[in-house]
Amino acid sequence: MSPQTPDTSRAKDFDPIESLATLRHEFGEHGGVNMSIEASTTFTVMDAETMPRIFHGERGPEIGGCYLYGRHFNPTVYVLGRQIAAMEGMASGYCTASGMAAIAGVLTQLCDSGDHIVSSRAVYGGTFALMSDYFPKKSGVRTSFVDITNLAEVETAFTAKTKVLYAESLSNPTLRVADIPELGAIAKRHNATLIVDNTFCPLIVSPAKLGADVVVHSLTKFISGASDIVAGAVCGSNEFIASLMDVHTGSLMLLGPTMDPKIAHELSLRVPHLGLRVAEHGRRALNFATRLRERGFHVVYPGLPDHPDHALAKRLFRPEFGFGGLFTIDLESKERAFRFMELLQNRDRFGYMAVSLGYFDTPMSCSASSTSSELSDDALRAAGIRPGLVRMSIGYTGSVEQRWEQLEDAFKRL
Ligand SMILES: *Cc1c(COP(=O)(O)O)cnc(C)c1O
Repeated sequence: MSPQTPDTSRAKDFDPIESLATLRHEFGEHGGVNMSIEASTTFTVMDAETMPRIFHGERGPEIGGCYLYGRHFNPTVYVLGRQIAAMEGMASGYCTASGMAAIAGVLTQLCDSGDHIVSSRAVYGGTFALMSDYFPKKSGVRTSFVDITNLAEVETAFTAKTKVLYAESLSNPTLRVADIPELGAIAKRHNATLIVDNTFCPLIVSPAKLGADVVVHSLTKFISGASDIVAGAVCGSNEFIASLMDVHTGSLMLLGPTMDPKIAHELSLRVPHLGLRVAEHGRRALNFATRLRERGFHVVYPGLPDHPDHALAKRLFRPEFGFGGLFTIDLESKERAFRFMELLQNRDRFGYMAVSLGYFDTPMSCSASSTSSELSDDALRAAGIRPGLVRMSIGYTGSVEQRWEQLEDAFKRL
């Protein structure tokens, strides 16, 4: 294992696929073409002096190749973190037991008691609950929720205590595109950290290249691709990742949401074909969204020319990976939405009534009554999440035409 992460964070013409390929030339312990799993929870040092130096942060994975303990850096987990960082074009990265652990860890690291967050109103339900309910009670950190596409509203929400501006590259489930360059400029003006959750858009958008300071991922979704693993990652500067792992003050080190090295190994085998999968999810989502729109349905997909952020998406997204695997369709009432999903699952076998996304098949859910149910009715209205809105994460099993016939059949029977 080469001890040095190639720092692509300042490279011009950054290409995430090339960046990842550079890292792949690392060999397992016995020359295996895949990295080895380091299952140890504790690590030896060759001389006793090294141990206190690791505790003081003077030795570490990239400073002398030193490891301490499994809840601190683990070599296998560290390599996966470097792969995610390479994909994002960031200096450093580390992995966590879940996406929420990554988000909670980053926010608690950056915000002290009494600090303030400005966040998009349309974020993942768990993130929303963390900021709106959990933090004010537990730590006195308060959040102002804004329409992230209204830059004037974003800027006005800042206070002297604002430490973080938080957005999703593509919002859940409203699929609005964050103008990361503009948000980065606003955060910079106020000395705040711009955190972007890039779970919906791995490879499609490179938030750090556009002005984000920290990128978080739920690896549970597209990066796993099989709906079998819950995991997360944080990418940032070397200093920021080191701060999360500090043995005295690091939120990941002290709160302990550690990724198991066996999980890191499994995920590392899925990163090389992530680009193929993301492109196919996007190709099929665009195909179905286009045909549904032609038939007059209310579909929201950033790849459609009438999407309010289509021009922005074309500017920020990498064309070879498309516009993402998710679209929403508004069926006007919860009852119609439920019937549509039941038909698609139980009659047409198009997909599953299940939360989550990025799976090889098609999970679909009614956001207002499932993944966004943490929001009050008022908050749902304000975020534009209507009761009949069905979110579909388009998979790539079956043929396109077979899947289209199934989708059409459900609409005919509605
Ligand atoms: C799923 C999800 C999360 C939370 O990730 P977990 O791995 O379930 O903890 C955070 N953000 C977004 C956008 C998600 O879709």
